[in-house]
Amino acid sequence: MSTSPRGEHDTGHMEFLLTLRRRGIGDQAVLRAMDEVPRARFVEAEFSDSAYADQALPIPCGQTISQPYVVAYMTEQLALQPHHRVLEVGTGSGYQAAVLSRLAREVVSIERYRTLADQARGRLASLGYINVEVVVGDGFAGVPGRAPFDRIIVTAAAERMPQTLIDQLADDGVMLLPLGAHGETQHIIKLTKSQTGITRENLIPVRFVPLLPGQAQEL
Ligand code: SAH
Repeated sequence: MSTSPRGEHDTGHMEFLLTLRRRGIGDQAVLRAMDEVPRARFVEAEFSDSAYADQALPIPCGQTISQPYVVAYMTEQLALQPHHRVLEVGTGSGYQAAVLSRLAREVVSIERYRTLADQARGRLASLGYINVEVVVGDGFAGVPGRAPFDRIIVTAAAERMPQTLIDQLADDGVMLLPLGAHGETQHIIKLTKSQTGITRENLIPVRFVPLLPGQAQEL
């Protein structure tokens, strides 16, 4: 056992931030959040040796915890401010939500699998991340009762632009989502809402599990 939850004495963990920097993450607050959140607590026990490798890993319900670089990249692109309220679609392990919670006032995260939502909620609570609320439901519908959101981050790949989520974005809001056909390379799209309309930028190529309609019928 290491002496910290994060395993600071592992070379794997020391490499972790170096890799993020080398790949171009420069925002100090984002790097600090990535350093602070113990990814080992969000992966399955059998993968704990790989917790700080820069790769996606399997989680229950056939889903994945995203690659650290992609988590850091999307977080950096959100340009979070301490007063921001954020919606995440696709809680999964809760890792991305934990990172967001270090940089924003409040995070609402929605997941279609109850099993994943319950596990993530338990982890986040045990780590003391009290400004995250995990809800079970269909992320395509967003969380209208809590809208508008300053930032929205979708962590599963949509095949087309989810208009309902755009509607839940505040003025001057930013939404990031992976867009593209399932099973193929998608691109992270950044939408910025202003009084004159929506501007769209295409960012890096990525590969995410699909954003699926409806709450999961299985647990
Ligand atoms: N952000 C996660 C990674 C999530 S993988 C993490 O840090 O671990 C994508 C997640 O999106 C999966 O858990 C999947 O079940 C969920 N998902 C897919 N479609 C969804 C939808 N329509 N509503 C809510 N969650 C959805």
